[in-house]
Amino acid sequence: MEQKTDLLSLLPHEMAAWFTALGQPAYRGRQVFSALAAGTQFSDMTVLPLALREQLTRTCEYRLPTVERKLVSREDGTVKYLFRLLDGACIESVLMRYKHGNTLCISSQVGCRMGCRFCASTIGGLVRNLLPSELYGQVIAAQADDGERISNIVMMGIGEPLDNYDHVVKFLHLVNREEGLNIGYRHISLSTSGLVPGILALARESFPITLSISLHASTDEQRSAIMPVNRAYPLKELLAACVSYYRSTGRRISFEYTLLAGQNDSPEDARRLADLLKNAFRGTGAPLHVNLIRVNEVAETGFRRGSAESANRFMELLNRQGVVATLRRRLGADVNAACGQLRRSQMQQEADHGGTD
Ligand code: SAH
Repeated sequence: MEQKTDLLSLLPHEMAAWFTALGQPAYRGRQVFSALAAGTQFSDMTVLPLALREQLTRTCEYRLPTVERKLVSREDGTVKYLFRLLDGACIESVLMRYKHGNTLCISSQVGCRMGCRFCASTIGGLVRNLLPSELYGQVIAAQADDGERISNIVMMGIGEPLDNYDHVVKFLHLVNREEGLNIGYRHISLSTSGLVPGILALARESFPITLSISLHASTDEQRSAIMPVNRAYPLKELLAACVSYYRSTGRRISFEYTLLAGQNDSPEDARRLADLLKNAFRGTGAPLHVNLIRVNEVAETGFRRGSAESANRFMELLNRQGVVATLRRRLGADVNAACGQLRRSQMQQEADHGGTD
């Protein structure tokens, strides 16, 4: 069978070229780009002649994820989506409602190969990268399902975005286009476990997105024990890459620090963390910001969640040393199984029932 065109992965000018090659006017590219961004199926694109709609249905794919499960928080309206992709794989996205607008947390891969010890998403390893259309499709599908505009994106779901670099960069272009969702780069954050070549490459693209680094430790020994990526890119290299990212983009970097009770949450850890960041960024003028998260307990990993008081003490110690720290508010606590757990429970269920097909 001939491969169908993944139309949703194409930018407006690429789509225009594709339609021109088909003998169609170039403006069809922009029309179809806008219609796909609005969640419209080929058969419903009434701006197109009927024959063209039928031709697109036959020869193209609209790689929009479908809602497999949806959990809505009764506390704050947070929505956790389990999306199913065309090949049957499942991923998660989370819609959070803030005063400054709706934020969607999206996945970048099916599974993950980074192996962070506390994380549920990496337990089964990496299955595959998401296509640009499947990254973009999460935003389109969530917005179409919810009915409210999504104005912010965080790439903090399943997967390591910089391990899927080219598709992620393409996605950033797609979601930013004003003919489509028109989401500004400043409203997008990307979180990485610390793939240094990816951080340096991103610095050269000069997208004004916000970069978040999953630090979670203040010594190489501590970090390598919970994040294998640290053996390839130790703290010194990672922080040097962060400094060069800051120098070339002028964008503040945010450091994520997951508090693991009894492992990295002592007053001594807080002091060392503050020193580490201050030393690395000395003379750059960069504001330092640490985002603290109390670990979400994942049965398979055995890490424990400490008390709110101890997290607050850790935060105050950082603040007192001139490092701005915030404790992440937990949205949708009643639906907030740790990222990756909904997908895992679905996979388990399907294995028990002999798969989906
Ligand atoms: N791979 C990317 C993005 C996905 S994870 C990264 O590592 O940054 C998003 C954030 O959640 C990361 O900071 C990650 O370390 C953190 N995280 C993963 N599992 C967690 C858990 N069980 N509890 C709290 N934070 C967790």
